[in-house]
Amino acid sequence: METDTLVAGTPVPSAVPSTTDALAPIWHPSPNFGPRRDGLKPSLIVLHYTAMNSAQEALDRLCDPVHEVSAHYLIGNDGTLWQLLLEEDRAWHAGAGEWHGQSDINSRSIGIELDNTGKHPFSERQMQRLEKLLDKIMHRWTIQPNGVIGHSDMAPGRKFDPGPRFDWLRLERNALAAPRGCGDCQQYVSQARFRTLAQAAGFSADIDDETLLSAVRLRYRPWGAGPLQQADFAPLTTQA
Ligand SMILES: [Zn+2]
Repeated sequence: METDTLVAGTPVPSAVPSTTDALAPIWHPSPNFGPRRDGLKPSLIVLHYTAMNSAQEALDRLCDPVHEVSAHYLIGNDGTLWQLLLEEDRAWHAGAGEWHGQSDINSRSIGIELDNTGKHPFSERQMQRLEKLLDKIMHRWTIQPNGVIGHSDMAPGRKFDPGPRFDWLRLERNALAAPRGCGDCQQYVSQARFRTLAQAAGFSADIDDETLLSAVRLRYRPWGAGPLQQADFAPLTTQA
């Protein structure tokens, strides 16, 4: 069968209907995957950075059976797009954690790794490629903007990617991530109130107050420091 003869380095037919599509990913298969559990289909897209020095290093790791990690896609710093798994399959990228009270994020998501050490900005070519890829995946699986999250959102305190350098606002403006609230900042600064709002936004993991604040700031205002303050509430608050 044609679909069974995926050769490394060639475009993936199931993901790319047109052979003239310039955005065709390079097929670089990983052995690290399994079936999605309980008949789940992707409803989330989880963004990561590789924390490695090169895309090649990341490719090697994500395809090494010893490490038992993978993702569906890897986008190089120069914008090159590799596909490691079919979207139908369950990649091993998210690990322990939850979002909106739901666990087994691997069965519910598509994982995208961004070639970045975590210490420098993401390149324009990489961001453009990511935006086009997100748009396609979101259409293919009917995933809403609020289904696009960071690894640190679902594994707060354990994971910190895609990190403080990632431009979430850019995705939000392009309807590729949930728009942050811009509600009334005149909130009574209460830890319980903050937790309620954060949980409603998806941060449901059982974590302490400090870890929760760090995770929410990482997503919305990574420059934020010090104790909980009114500005931390705004992104979680919808306009009245
Ligand atoms: Zn990650």
